[in-house]
Order: sequence, then C-alpha cells, then structure tokens
Amino acid sequence: MNFKRFKNKATCPELTDAPPLGMDADSLGDDFRSYYTYNLGRDRNCRLTHYAYEALALTVRDRLMERWKNTRYAYEESDCKRAYYLSLEFLMGRSLGNAVHNLGIEKEVADALHEVYLDMEELADIEPDAGLGNGGLGRLAACFLDSCATLQLPVMGYGIRYEYGMFRQHIKNGYQIEEPDHWLASSNCWELERPEYRQRIKFGGRSEFYNDASGKLRVRWVDTRDVLAMPYDVPIPGYRNETVNTLRLWKAVATEEFDLDEFNSGDYAGSVAAKNEAEKITMVLYPNDASENGKDLRLRQQYFLASASLQDVFERWAGVKGKHLKEFAEKNCFQLNDTHPSIAVAELMRLLLDRHGLEWKDAWDITQQTMAYTNHTLLPEALEKWPVRLFQTVLPRLLDIIYEINARFLSQVAQRWPGDQERQRRMSLIEEGPEPQVRMAYLAIVGSFSVNGVAELHSQLLREGLFRDFYELWPEKFNNKTNGVTQRRWLAYANPGLNQLISSKIGNGWVTELDQLSRLKPLAENPEFRDEWQRVKYNNKQRLAQLVKDECKVTFNPEALFDVQVKRIHEYKRQLLNVLHVIHLYDRIKRDDVADWTPRCVLIGGKAAPGYQMAKLIIKLISNVSIMVNNDPQVGDLLKVAFFPNYRVSAMEVIAPGADLSEQISTAGKEASGTGNMKFMLNGALTIGTLDGANIEIREEVGADNFFLFGLTAAEVEALRPHYDPSGIIAGNEDLQRVMNLLKHGHFNQFEAGIFDPLIAAIESPYDPWLTAADFASYVTAQQQVASAYRDRAGWTRMSILNTASGGKFSTDRTMREYNREIWRLPKIANGVDAELDRKFHPESILDAPVS
Ligand SMILES: *Cc1c(COP(=O)(O)O)cnc(C)c1O
Repeated sequence: MNFKRFKNKATCPELTDAPPLGMDADSLGDDFRSYYTYNLGRDRNCRLTHYAYEALALTVRDRLMERWKNTRYAYEESDCKRAYYLSLEFLMGRSLGNAVHNLGIEKEVADALHEVYLDMEELADIEPDAGLGNGGLGRLAACFLDSCATLQLPVMGYGIRYEYGMFRQHIKNGYQIEEPDHWLASSNCWELERPEYRQRIKFGGRSEFYNDASGKLRVRWVDTRDVLAMPYDVPIPGYRNETVNTLRLWKAVATEEFDLDEFNSGDYAGSVAAKNEAEKITMVLYPNDASENGKDLRLRQQYFLASASLQDVFERWAGVKGKHLKEFAEKNCFQLNDTHPSIAVAELMRLLLDRHGLEWKDAWDITQQTMAYTNHTLLPEALEKWPVRLFQTVLPRLLDIIYEINARFLSQVAQRWPGDQERQRRMSLIEEGPEPQVRMAYLAIVGSFSVNGVAELHSQLLREGLFRDFYELWPEKFNNKTNGVTQRRWLAYANPGLNQLISSKIGNGWVTELDQLSRLKPLAENPEFRDEWQRVKYNNKQRLAQLVKDECKVTFNPEALFDVQVKRIHEYKRQLLNVLHVIHLYDRIKRDDVADWTPRCVLIGGKAAPGYQMAKLIIKLISNVSIMVNNDPQVGDLLKVAFFPNYRVSAMEVIAPGADLSEQISTAGKEASGTGNMKFMLNGALTIGTLDGANIEIREEVGADNFFLFGLTAAEVEALRPHYDPSGIIAGNEDLQRVMNLLKHGHFNQFEAGIFDPLIAAIESPYDPWLTAADFASYVTAQQQVASAYRDRAGWTRMSILNTASGGKFSTDRTMREYNREIWRLPKIANGVDAELDRKFHPESILDAPVS
C-alpha cells in the first residue's frame, strides 16, 4: 500500500461529492445488474445465488456509503462530544436485511428483484452471520449500535475483526462437535479496509527511564515486538434517518520492518512464522461465555483492542485540536463492555504520560473523567485476573502504571479507613498469593467515573456483594442501566406478520418509540383482534416448525404449545431443570396420566464452551431424551423434543416469532439481565421464569397475572445453601424421584452405561451451586399452570398480546437514552439534506430524547 497523498487540497470536494443514488426500484435494479455483470463478472451461465446476494449487497452498501460520509462530516462539523463503545464482542448477525429495512427500501428492493425473478428472503439467507461474539453480551453491543444510530448519537463501536468467529456447532450422536467459523472465506461486503488509519501496538520489551529536553524524568517502552492494527469499518445504519454510524474492527498484521529484518537475516521460514505470530492475535474469538482462562493470547487481544482504539481516538483528536488535552475529557467518553477491555484504563494513562508528557495527576483526572465501566456478571469465574508474571512479560509498562495506580488508590483507602489492613488487602488491584494476580474489574472501577450493572437486581447485588467495598467508598459511581434489545431487528424485521398487524392498529411509531406498544392493551379484549393475532402466531409457528424439521429432523405440530429455551448452555441457566421437566412429562405419559393434556413441543438450543464438560453432557442428555420421546408411539403428538443445532442470531430471528413459551429459569441471582427474555416477550411469548435478572422487571411491566413465576428468590437461594439437602427433596417428591430413577437406571443411555452419572451427582450434591432440585417442584407446578392456560386459547392470546404491549421498556433506545443522559451526555446530531441547521452543537438536545 502506497501512502502518498494528493498534493492539491482542492481535489477533495470535486473528488468526493458524487451525485446521490436513486432509492427507487429502477435505480436499484440497474445497479444490481451492473454489479452482477461488471463488478462480479457473472453471466447467464452462472446460476449461483451467492453472486446475486453479493450484487444486491453492493447495491445496498452504496446507499449506505453516501449517508456514512455525510454522518462523518456532520460529527466533524459539530465538534461534538463522542462516546466509544469498547467491546471484545459484537454479535452482529446478518447485515443485508437489516440495512434494507433501516433504509426503508424493502418494497423497492423486492420490486427490483422481482424483475429478475429473484426473492429477497432467499438472497438474505445466503449471508453468513457475523458471529463475533458468544451470546448476550456481544448481541447487546450490536443492539446498542443500532439504537445509537437511530437516536443519532455520535457513538462509535470498537472491536476485533476475528478471522474465525463463534464456532459452528454440529450434533453427532448427540454430542456437540465444534467446527471453525471461517466467516470471511467469501468476500465480506459489509466492511471497508482503512489502512490510512492503522496503528502500531507494542508488546514485550521493558520500561526505560530517561530525561527529556527539559530535564524531566520520563519513561519509554522499548525493545518491543510491535504489531500493526488494521481497521475495518462496518456501517451501522440508523432507522430511516440518514445517519450511518461506524463500528471499527481491528485486525492484527505484521509490521513491515519486522518482515524486512527477518527476511534479510535469510531465515525465510522463520520470518513467515514470525508474521503468523503477530497475526494470530486476532485469529479467533475465545468461545467462553461468562468465564475466563488466563491465556496469554487473550490478554494480547484485550490490549490490542484497547491500545488501537485509544490511539485512534487520539489521532483524530490531534488532527483537530493539536496537543491541547485540556478538553479531552469533555469531548470523549469510553464505555467498557465488561471487564474485558479494562486495560484501557492503564493504556490511557500510558498515552497521556509517556506520549503526551502529562503529569500523573492531570493524566489521572482525564482518565477518571473519561472511562465508564459496565459489569455483566456476578459469576466469580468470570472475574478476570491476570498473573502479574504474564503482565510483566507481555505488557511491562502497563504493569508499572497499574502498580502506581494501586499505590495511590490504597493510600486513599487507608485515609478513609485508617488501620484497616484487611480492607486494603481486599480492595487491592493486586491479589497476593503464591501467584499474584491483577484484578482487572477493580482496575476498571478505580479508573472509571461510572460503574453500572445491567438490571435492577444485578446492580443491587453488585452494590451489596461483589463490589461492596467500592460502593462504600464511592456510592455516587454506581448506577443501573437495564438492558434492552432493538425492536427494529427483533420485531419489525424478524416478525413482518406481527409488524403489519400492530402497525395496522396503532401506526408504526413503535418502531422508534417502543412505549407506543402499550396502545395495544385495550385490543387484547377484542376477539377479532385476538383471532388475527393468533393467525400471525400460527404462521410464525409453521415457519419455525419448518426450520426445526430441516435442522433437527423432528416434526413439530403448530397446534401444540411451543416451549423454547435457546441461549448458551450453562449450568446456571439450568437447561438441566428443563430436561428434568421433559422427563417428568414423558413419565406421566408412560403411566398414562394424560387427562387434560396439552400437547407440547420443547425446543432447546445453544452452544457449550468447548472445554465445559458438564454443559456438553447436558446437550447429550437433551439429545438422548429427544430420541426416546420422539420415537415412542405411546407419546405420539403429546410431546416432542428437539435440540436445535448451531443457535445464532439468524436462527433467533425465526425462533422468537414462533415461540409460545419463553424459558428463563436461571438460579435466582445468577443471570445478570438476560436479553433473550426480551426478544421473546416482544414477539408475544409468555415467560416462565425465576425472579432473576430482567425477568423481575418484565414481570413488573406485564403484571404477575401474565407471567409464570416459580422458584426461590436470590435471598432464599443464599439462605438455603448452608443446609441444602437435595436427597431429602428428592425423597420427598415422588415426581422428582421417578425422574431421578429413570436417569439412574440408564433409561436414556441404554447402550452408554454411566455417561450421565456426573449430571446425577450434580443434582444430588448438597453443594450444587445451582440448586436444581430445590426449584423442581415449583417449576413443575408453574408448567402445569402454563399447560392449562394454553388450553384457553382466547385467554392465552390475550396474555400474549399483553406481553408484546408491555415490552416498551425493553428497547435499547430506552437503554441508550439512559446511558446518554446519565453517563455520556452527547448531543443528538441530525444528518441529511434538511438537517444543515441541526449540525451545530445543541447541549439542550441531550434532553430532547424522551425517557420513559
Ligand atoms: C439474544 C441472544 C443471546 C442472549 O440470550 P440470553 O437468553 O439472554 O442468554 C444469545 N445468543 C444469541 C444468538 C442471541 O440472539
């Protein structure tokens, strides 16, 4: 790549002001054929739908390009404050359908494709999911970006362009098989390489002291092994508002001189190997949801993201403001998506101290006014700790800075609680022991002005438990931001039938103001509307049944209750409790206890982390139970069970609209928020759930009568632990005893003796952290209430409508408005031809956005 610039500045307006592109069917059709023929070079002999997809993607992308450029200009001209969402994960799913929907050209595209006998749905289905995330945390980041673009907030996402995203899951003989997800194998239209903004990232080496020109003692990081960060920009279209924001993903590439040195030394093979070493930093997404593993490469990924992103922001800053850093904190804010990018705190200090020559106090003030931290989990195994030894070799200069932050912080603690050594030990950023560790969550809290949880209960448990010491020191830092989902993707786009029905009654204002759904509430009492609602649900169930047929080879009857649990497989989410209930239903059928039976189709899907043996065994149990149940003529249509393979965003777009019942059954106090629960609710599914995460707020919104509650509360869970007696519970509950006996007698593993013993032992252990047996009885009772409620179709449909109608709170538009009002304080920057006047900075516009 040649980085020579134009000599003539005047070239730019002439070069970059291309005429706007038509949004009508004819223009779209012309461009589509033109891309197909001239750009992709296909002709009538090529009958691969892939190239039609690509031609359409390029046609749509062009329409984003001009709006993208105008949005950048609008932000530059307003000189406004900006926020940066730093996340190791962005679970974007597909882009084409979303872009067409947000641009508002669905009809035009359909017409253009009709001319050439093609169909949008078929082409959209060609696109591979961008699976750069594990689950809820990564999908949340994607929903946030959609809402920020729709609210016209100047927010940019920063992430990693993994060569291999979330693994593809196959099921073989009931076991999970992982396959690499080489999602970039066929060209990706939804990214733009930007070599002009690449950054250099340091690793290894050592700190060196020196005196600068004015004789001041300073530090530089030397003898490093550098890697280049190459940015790839992904357009994030707002909803029909001319705004296109940016997600910038970094790829690691070897430095040029690094190559040269090695090549000149004559070691050709060694130099290629060294290049691979550099580039492997962004090779693969770590497939662990809610747990960490202390791997060298993972720390490198985290630092790579933090350093590339911060340097990028500084470079843009310097281009406009030169060296004046006084206003930096007034104009920039970094939101850390969980503890993963928290090394950004130390990296910002390094850049301010070593590169910009600030004094410690000034640098620390800026850092503490710029960083904000979101915690996503209470699970202790997910609290990231890095061995000090590893830090010393990989990021020695950052370790210096963390020690200094810690020393100053602990003296603050000592001042506040004189003589309380125990508290200092507890709060230290360094955990002492045979292998001292850096506590990254504490670094994030100390370095940030805001610390938030993601649902009311979760934020409360952070204040009272995990971060209690820090809450006592800085109560004002702590706040809650209940998660949401974007209704554009998860209702308007994914459920066109319901979209149309809702909009025909209350208009389409809900697409940008989800609270308007409450206007559906009176319609729940209207029998004709209920019939229409039921018809839409039935169609969606047919579509889901077809997907289940294709993917699982199991036949679901759309007349039955569709009972769905899809999410990462984890013991705390208790898919095992779901299976115990399925076995209980099977047992009832086998002993002919089927009076007033409600036929039920149970769908369970999700990926297990490849090293998580218990989770993988749960998948095997679901598979084995499903074979037993589905092939038993006595069971027939009363019960069907399927394990859905390779659960992902594009699958959820079909699953949520087709679900009747949403399973949200985690052990209370363990699920930080959940967002799958919100997608189901918006699509008219009823929830069976514990008082955990955002379930509590969902139940508050929809009313206790329209929610199937069961199980211990978070407080009861903690109170029970010391004297938990699962054997006693099993002995005292005939249903559970029968279920356990079937398991113990190997009923579901007749040719695989003993394979489920670890699951049986976990349920029977008095130390079972998930208290599965404790909630079994109340779960079964709630499921019986579900079954009888479903038999009253009018009553069920009424509740279904009320669930959708009460979902207004769970839009990420609401979540983003709260982040903006209470943390970022960004102006809304309108874009587009009519918005010239709006481009100036309006502080009052922060408050424009209504907050529910
Ligand atoms: C929404 C979503 C999740 C999160 O689901 P939870 O039930 O909240 O854990 C995970 N994966 C995908 C693909 C999703 O769309």
